[in-house]
Amino acid sequence: PDRAELEALQHADVAALLPEPGGESDKYRRGVVGIAAGSARYPGAAVLAVAGALRGGAGAVRYVGPAGQAVLARFPETLVSDRGPEKAGRVQAWVVGPGAGDDAATVAEVLEAEVPVLLDADGLRLAEREAVRGRSAPTLMTPHAGEAAALLGVTREEVEGARLAAVRELAGRYAATVLLKGSTTLVTDPAAPDGGPVRVNATGTPWLATAGSGDVLSGLAGSLLAAGLSAVDAGSAAAYLHGLAGRLAAQGAPVGAHDVADAIPRAWRDVR
Ligand code: AMP
Ligand code: MG
Repeated sequence: PDRAELEALQHADVAALLPEPGGESDKYRRGVVGIAAGSARYPGAAVLAVAGALRGGAGAVRYVGPAGQAVLARFPETLVSDRGPEKAGRVQAWVVGPGAGDDAATVAEVLEAEVPVLLDADGLRLAEREAVRGRSAPTLMTPHAGEAAALLGVTREEVEGARLAAVRELAGRYAATVLLKGSTTLVTDPAAPDGGPVRVNATGTPWLATAGSGDVLSGLAGSLLAAGLSAVDAGSAAAYLHGLAGRLAAQGAPVGAHDVADAIPRAWRDVR
C-alpha cells in the first residue's frame, strides 16, 4: 500500500490520549462502561472483557448478561445487573458481543443506546447493518480477518491480501470506525473511508494469538470510549496498549489472555 495512506501509531500520540483523573474526578466523571457479553457456553469471554475494561480508565464497569456470577467471582468491583442494557443504569459506552452466542435482542437493544458502542465477535455477526448505520453516537467495530470476511462476503484470504481496502470498505458500509485485528492492527474512521489515513499499530506479538485475547482488547477499548475518547482514538490507544501488554506479559513465553489483561497497567505506565 501507498505509505502516505498509513499513519504509524507513536508512543507520544498514545500518551497524550490516555485519560488521567484530576482532583475533582469521581467515578461517574471518569466514565461507566457497560459490558454485554458472555453466555452460558462462554462465560469466560465476559470475565476477560471485564478484565480489559477495569484497566482502561473508566470509573466503573457495569456488566449485563448471564455470566454475572463468574464475573463477580473474579472481579468483585464489577456492577452486575440482572436487567437488560436499557434498564441497567447509567452507562457512557457499551461493549457488546464477546462470547454472546445468539443473543440478537441484546445487540439490537445496545445499538439503540445514544452512547458510543463497541461491536465485537458475535455482536458483529448479529448486528443489522442499517441499525449500525442509523446510530446517532459513534460505533467502533473490532473484527479479526475472519469476521471482516464474513461481514464483507469474501474469503478470509481476500481480506488478508487487501487489509487496507477491507478496513475502509467496512467503515464505509457500516458508517462506523473499524479496527481490523491481526499481526498489525489497522484503525480507520468512517469520515474519510477512501481518502483519510489509516492508523497502524505494530506493538503486538504473535503470543497474542491466543483464545480470549480479543475479548480483553474489546473491554479495554470500551473503557477508553466511556472515558471520553473518540472511537478512532479509543481503538488506536487500546490496540497500542494491548500489544504492549502482550509483550510485557509474554516476554518470549506463552501466556493466557488473562495475563495480558493483568499487564495492561504496566503497559499504561510505560506509555505515560
Ligand atoms: P481475537 O482474534 O478476537 O481473539 O483477537 C486477537 C488479538 O490478538 C488481536 O488484538 C490481534 O491483533 C492480536 N494478534 C493476533 N495474532 C497476532 C500476531 N500474529 N501478532 C500480533 N498480534 C496478534
Ligand atoms: Mg475475538
